[in-house]
Amino acid sequence: MLFPHLAKKEKPLVICPFCRFDDSRVIDSRPTDEGNQIRRRRECTSCGRRFNTAESSILLVIKRSGATEPFSREKVISGVRKACQGRPVNDDDLALLAQRVEESLRLDGAAEVEAQEVGLALLAPLRELDEVAYLRYASVYRNFASLEDFEAEIALLRAEPSRNFKVPKDSRNQALIK
Ligand SMILES: [Zn+2]
Repeated sequence: MLFPHLAKKEKPLVICPFCRFDDSRVIDSRPTDEGNQIRRRRECTSCGRRFNTAESSILLVIKRSGATEPFSREKVISGVRKACQGRPVNDDDLALLAQRVEESLRLDGAAEVEAQEVGLALLAPLRELDEVAYLRYASVYRNFASLEDFEAEIALLRAEPSRNFKVPKDSRNQALIK
C-alpha cells in the first residue's frame, strides 16, 4: 500500500434502516452540488439489504503541516491551470477534471484525505485530458530531476496509450453548467 497510514480513515456511522446494524458497504457515491452533500447507495453487511443515504459531509484535506481545510474544486483547477497553458483545454474541461477528482476521492467514503492523495487522484484524469499538460504537471508533482525522468514517463505513456477519455457534454453534471 502506497500510504499505509491512510488506512485508518474515519468512516461515518450509518445504521441500516432494516436491521439497525451499524456497518454497511458503499456501493455508489455521488457528490451533489459543491460537495456539501453526498448521496450514497449502501449495502448492509448484516442483512444484505440496500438503502440510499444523503450524507452531509465536507471532504477535508489534510495538508502537509497537519492542518485541514475543506476540499476545493477551485484549488484543484488552479493547481493544474498553469500546466494547461497553451493547450486545448477549456474551463469546462477543468471543471470536469475537478469533479472527477472529487468523485474519485469520495468513492471510498472517507471524510478526510491527504493532500498527496488529491495530487495522485488528479494524475489519471489529467492524462486523459491532455498528455502534455500531464507531463508538465507530473514533472513538478513527482519532482523530475533529469531528462531520464521525462524519458521514462514518456515511455510509460507510449506503452500504455490513454483512452483519450472525454465525457460527452450531455452527461456532465448539471451543476457545472451555469
Ligand atoms: Zn441490515
